[in-house]
Amino acid sequence: MEIEKTTTETTCGVYALIATDLRHMLIMNGEIDMNKVCTNCKVDKDYKYFYKQSSAKDKLQHWCKVCMDEAFKRKSAERLANGPSIIRDAKVCQDCNTRKPINQFFVKRGYSADGYGSYCKPCWVKRTVKSQKKSNAKKLSNQ
Ligand SMILES: [Zn+2]
Ligand SMILES: [Zn+2]
Repeated sequence: MEIEKTTTETTCGVYALIATDLRHMLIMNGEIDMNKVCTNCKVDKDYKYFYKQSSAKDKLQHWCKVCMDEAFKRKSAERLANGPSIIRDAKVCQDCNTRKPINQFFVKRGYSADGYGSYCKPCWVKRTVKSQKKSNAKKLSNQ
């Protein structure tokens, strides 16, 4: 993982980080229009066409959503064809950061190298409920 350099630098560096966050917030709110060139397809796209990545300097992935989705699809097809490349008996949930036995994770064939989800079952359920609530709220507001 890439560590944000500015956080360990001088006061100036820390200020720079805050400025970046503020700018990023304004961009995400659509108050500033910013473009970024995808390092894969080399197309200059609006910031909203990039997924977020908190460890990146500009808080965005280097690849645009289209390229990321394509790469994920390809990787996932490869994994489905070849089976899991890593066999684990336990893994750390990326949500609650707890190491749990592998049977505490849902089987997600093709999703990851070990064929299991990134979140433990309780966290996965919580996330699903949350995103369903969100999409339901969206549906309601669109009526
Ligand atoms: Zn791209
Ligand atoms: Zn969890």
